[in-house]
Amino acid sequence: MSPPSAADTKIDTIVIGNGPSSMILSYILHGNIPYYAPDPPHPDPLLHAKLRAPSTCLLRPDLDTLTHHFAASRLSYSTQALPINVLLDALLRPHGETDDLGDVTNIEWRYKPHRAVPHLVLGNASSPGGLWAVDDPVRVSWDIGTLSYAGMLSLPGYTFAAHYRKTKNADLAPFTRPSRKELAEYLRMYPVEAGISDSFLNNMQVDGIERTADGFYIRSHRLRCKHLVLATGIFSHLIQPPALLAPLATLHNANSSRTPLLVIGSGFTAADAIISAPVDQPILHLFRWSPDERPSPLRACHQQAYPEYAGVYRLMKRAALASNSAKRPKARRLVSTSFLESRNWDEVYEGIPNAEIVDVQMKDGKAIVTLCLTDGTTIQRPVCGLVYGVGRRGSLGYLDPALRAEILSGVDSPDENKISAKTLRNKVMEDLEVAPDIFVIGSLTGDSLIRFAFGGCVYAASTLIRDLDSSSGTCTPKRPAGTPTGGRGALMNGVDGHGQRAQYDDRPQKPLVCPSKNSEDKSPWPRISRWWTALCNALFS
Ligand SMILES: Cc1cc2nc3c(=O)[nH]c(=O)nc-3n(C[C@H](O)[C@H](O)[C@H](O)COP(=O)(O)OP(=O)(O)OC[C@H]3O[C@@H](n4cnc5c(N)ncnc54)[C@H](O)[C@@H]3O)c2cc1C
Repeated sequence: MSPPSAADTKIDTIVIGNGPSSMILSYILHGNIPYYAPDPPHPDPLLHAKLRAPSTCLLRPDLDTLTHHFAASRLSYSTQALPINVLLDALLRPHGETDDLGDVTNIEWRYKPHRAVPHLVLGNASSPGGLWAVDDPVRVSWDIGTLSYAGMLSLPGYTFAAHYRKTKNADLAPFTRPSRKELAEYLRMYPVEAGISDSFLNNMQVDGIERTADGFYIRSHRLRCKHLVLATGIFSHLIQPPALLAPLATLHNANSSRTPLLVIGSGFTAADAIISAPVDQPILHLFRWSPDERPSPLRACHQQAYPEYAGVYRLMKRAALASNSAKRPKARRLVSTSFLESRNWDEVYEGIPNAEIVDVQMKDGKAIVTLCLTDGTTIQRPVCGLVYGVGRRGSLGYLDPALRAEILSGVDSPDENKISAKTLRNKVMEDLEVAPDIFVIGSLTGDSLIRFAFGGCVYAASTLIRDLDSSSGTCTPKRPAGTPTGGRGALMNGVDGHGQRAQYDDRPQKPLVCPSKNSEDKSPWPRISRWWTALCNALFS
């Protein structure tokens, strides 16, 4: 642990995690400000009417007023995502998924370099991309398609379609699900193409962040900052198997003896492991089957859009139906799809729903697992390896205990190493600034899709820009905690249909006042040109 010293480097804002949400935020903090583009008008005439004033800046929009009518709109606005994210998504992609390539948008990004905020993005992935830049902790193929269509994965200033055109010299077909490899490649190149790479420091495992009198200190890199943005996601750690299964982790999944690979889980991670296994690899699949109470997320996968996930779901369903019959019937024929025809599933796949592993014995580099079935009988199976795919979590272990406690205050039975979509959800419904000068963005907010990261980033950026502007003595003061406009009521609006008006400010926002040309010199925090040289010296010399 190195104590603070004169050599420590100061910067206004530090973002932890180098995934897609950090990229969106960094793009804005580089001075790219979102404005409503009224031509063509947004298909929601009410929203258009509220925004159509010339040059409506979307930093810190009057959320309550703008989203008030969403629940009753004929357009199907998401009721799950945070209203700020729903609003930005609706403006970015006014025609939703029907305009996959994003040809029409109601957001224009205007470059205003004087509004840039000096910031750094520190992430442990070796290149920009967050979870997409690293090998999945489960061995899965890089060729598996993303869940989202390409247009829903595009970041501002350099779209996936533009990237495709540039690298493949061809136009992207509508409704393309890029492979993970293609998305990782896009995200790796994005910072350079979007002109924000000067802020990205990759391969940096950040640790030991504490609050100081005037901001934060990051011990692992001897950095000081005034604002902290957490973008570390909720998928970095696989949930670990219970102790009984620990010996299985020592197996090497060798397929020489055609012994089954044990896959546990009923969601995408387990499905990815099955899809990625060699075609002749026998698979023993244990999964929870509870279609009425907790259906597998794979059930929502349409056969045409997601043939591989729909295929795995069918295998599971067939196994579950068979297990319910008193006498196991001959396996029902699966309706043919290219995925289901790609292997002899009757031979290589054995699915067992709701079984419990009661014993594991290791022998000659293999294991024998004893399973207790739902009818109480026990069976044994040899296995050559384990994929434990029951979920992932994030961690806030990189924050000092006091800071972690601040962020997790009010959270029921928090576990700093098991941060899920629910952990901070109630807090971000109040305010994305979860503690003074600390923001969360991206999947940490509970909205995990890239398309729903924009709102949180705009929100965080607006405060950061405003703070910097006001420290230069030129801008309107920051709102009290409980923002965005309308406080909790506004954030709930759109989530559960609440539509109450903001209690303390219903008026449209005045555009922010921009600092005068020389005002930046008054700020105690260095602007970009100066801080970058200082930082490189501090980190790499
Ligand atoms: C298997 C899978 C498939 C998915 N498919 C899609 C899809 O098709 N479409 C979609 O929109 N979303 C998808 N998602 C959701 C995913 O949340 C988003 O794609 C996106 O990656 C979220 O971006 P983020 O910036 O919030 O965080 P992440 O991409 O999760 O990046 C956070 C990064 O911070 C790093 N980090 C954590 N702690 C530290 C530390 N102390 N120091 C430095 N770095 C740290 C993490 O290791 C990680 O690299 C998928 C998720 C998973 C797990």
